[in-house]
Amino acid sequence: MAETIFSKIIRKEIPANIVHEDEHCLAFHDVAPQAPVHVLVIPKKPIVSLEQLEQDDASLLGHLWLTIQQVARQLELASDGYRVVVNCGKNGGQSVDHLHFHLLGGRALSWPPG
Ligand code: AMP
Repeated sequence: MAETIFSKIIRKEIPANIVHEDEHCLAFHDVAPQAPVHVLVIPKKPIVSLEQLEQDDASLLGHLWLTIQQVARQLELASDGYRVVVNCGKNGGQSVDHLHFHLLGGRALSWPPG
């Protein structure tokens, strides 16, 4: 997998406002927030996108979802609700080729997306 800005954040070569870190994943504030709270949750394992997930990633994926829930609670989004978005590939609007989950909250979000 090609080097991305997120690999550099994982290795702490560039700064990020980190809200959670463990052995398997990292969560940090998005540099261009689209909501009052906009956090990215990423696996440390270099996975390009949702399309590249494999059967062996099943437990990692469960861990990522539970981390999203934990971070949402930590940032006090749980009572009013929040949205989790994964952009996949060109038509999905993915701009960084390292799997990431957008956690958005702090305001009512419209639907459908553009
Ligand atoms: P996507 O368009 O789904 O690939 O999302 C990539 C996200 O990464 C965008 O929301 C960007 O604002 C965000 N982003 C890019 N560079 C950084 C960075 N250095 N720190 C935090 N977020 C970033």
